[in-house]
Amino acid sequence: MKHSLSKAKAFSSRLAISGLALLVLAGTTYAGSTLTLAENKVAGVKIVVSAGSCKPVLFAAHELRTFLQQATGAEFTITEQAPASEAAIVLGDCSESRAAGIEVARLKRDGFQILRKGNRIFIAGRDDPDYDLEAFVEMEKVPPINGQGWFNSVIKPEYATLFGVYDFLERVAGIRWYFPGKMGTYVPKSPVLTVDEMDWTENPVMMFRNSAGFGDRSHGKYKTWRMPDYPEIGVTRVDSNLWALRCRQSTAYLPENHAIGMLHYYHRYYQDEKNRKEEYFAMRPDGTRYAESQHKCSLCYSNPDVAKQIIADAKLFFSSGKAADMENAPWNAKWELNRAQGDYFSLLPNDQYGAGCHCQRCLALVKKETVETMDPNLPGEYVISTGKYSRIMWDYFRTVAEGTLAEFPNKYFTILAYSMYREIPDNITKLPANLMVGVTAIPNGNSSDGPAMKRIIDDIRQWGKYTDNGLWLWLYFINRPQYDGIPLPRLWAAGRFYNELKNLNVNGIYMECLVTHGYTAHLDIYLNHRLMWNPSLDANQIISEYAKHLYGAADGEVVALLQLFEEKYLKGIVKNVPGRYSGAAYRDIIDWPEGRWPQDGIEGLRKEIYTDEILAQILQLARQAQSKVTSGTIEADRLQLFLSRFAIPVLQKFNAMPQEGI
Ligand SMILES: [Zn+2]
Repeated sequence: MKHSLSKAKAFSSRLAISGLALLVLAGTTYAGSTLTLAENKVAGVKIVVSAGSCKPVLFAAHELRTFLQQATGAEFTITEQAPASEAAIVLGDCSESRAAGIEVARLKRDGFQILRKGNRIFIAGRDDPDYDLEAFVEMEKVPPINGQGWFNSVIKPEYATLFGVYDFLERVAGIRWYFPGKMGTYVPKSPVLTVDEMDWTENPVMMFRNSAGFGDRSHGKYKTWRMPDYPEIGVTRVDSNLWALRCRQSTAYLPENHAIGMLHYYHRYYQDEKNRKEEYFAMRPDGTRYAESQHKCSLCYSNPDVAKQIIADAKLFFSSGKAADMENAPWNAKWELNRAQGDYFSLLPNDQYGAGCHCQRCLALVKKETVETMDPNLPGEYVISTGKYSRIMWDYFRTVAEGTLAEFPNKYFTILAYSMYREIPDNITKLPANLMVGVTAIPNGNSSDGPAMKRIIDDIRQWGKYTDNGLWLWLYFINRPQYDGIPLPRLWAAGRFYNELKNLNVNGIYMECLVTHGYTAHLDIYLNHRLMWNPSLDANQIISEYAKHLYGAADGEVVALLQLFEEKYLKGIVKNVPGRYSGAAYRDIIDWPEGRWPQDGIEGLRKEIYTDEILAQILQLARQAQSKVTSGTIEADRLQLFLSRFAIPVLQKFNAMPQEGI
């Protein structure tokens, strides 16, 4: 689907048709408090984008026209002005919207206002005049950010009027975008579409709302983010990019990734003997340094000279210098978008902390009561305190942040409470104002869902006390490839998770979606993005609505199947015990088969969770669902797609698929 935007030329041709339509409707479009948007396939309003409106507003106008047309069957005109006597939807910040009282400067980033005054509906938020959304969707290489479609690690200019248009279409016309492409789009037919009075101001609760769940990542080196089934079901990259917009992924983005590789410490201070500063690197127990390559190295973070050098590197970035101008930097050094971008600079060390630093200064700061053993249930996994290096690392993060604060008060460092520095150190006090703290978490429920979730939520609550910036979360939505074929939804669990977050001052989420196959995670991604915008929403209501909209009379069975899969995941696959493991966020609750069933591996899942009885239940629900839809309808097609991804693979995996198929 080419998302065509040919500006004024394209819409002038429709003026004549619509002019006639408005004559017919004159006098009936604006009766009392009800305004008729369309009736009998005739539009009752024009879409107004005032002369000189910026590209995002034009894009929003085309989206509005496309979907109003689909909903009502009427042709809508986009025009630069409409006389005061004519009903209109006026888009963007313009003199008319300002006269109506809309002040976009008062809105938060991505926020918007929808206001009706008489026969005028205004939809406006802040928009950046230079941003070409069509180029983003088509991934064309044009300024200011070169398209960058599926690669979403970019701080984008603002286009909040578009978000207002989507909200308007959802509320007024009941439209939903559940997954990319036509099959996932729900547009109820509205032969008569009217609106009453309205004055809605919407600001997102979370400023950063990003996930790796958008776009086509099934190609090339990104095989771990496998979404092979999107191309299979006819979803294009353009569809995926449009879906990211319609799910209101934030225009803001927080760079938050391992930074030592980008900063080339191995090259700058180890590889070349004449520049070598051995004392910058972590000391192994035998006295040698852990410096094997750019990514297999760790620094001695208690060394004040390391902090000084990182401060110098960050100052260079904050003052718009080139990465290649860092001391000893290779000619090709560059700032990477997901590590240093805009006003943000990530301090995250490499995951390979090696054996930690064994210099006297570091050893004195290592948490003493650390238990360091092997867990018999997790062969090969060390059980390491999440607070082992907290003192060393948080002293260092604080020192670096304080080192630039006076000179760059509006430039921020991002850092995660993560790995062996997840725990709050004993000497903690309020953190510097330019440090943005993140916590790794898993959306597996709220603090009543077992000890692991209780601990995660408690970590978020505790960390929040030491910063006034709010916390952002790195959310793991990770499926082990060993579970291929097993649906692993976390839907109602996400609802419980976000509902508890709503009072914890969380300002953003990055959802890392690994091994999702695209379609199997669509509802998780849709739901998470709704909840990022407003964590108070009722997930159950959203899921029920989804099932009704997409699968019609088979909605009950679809919900029952999703519930079954979620329960088998949370109560079967997940052990849900308090974690004391290094790594992401309490490793044990994103368990893999060899850890969960050391004797049987994936066969344990068959014996314990997906028993004959459960597989028979899945088959029965699938058949019952099929009996409720009429073949040849879009509901039947969607149901078959749902069953082919959610029910059939699990039946096949465990040889429970009947010969006649389903
Ligand atoms: Zn050290």
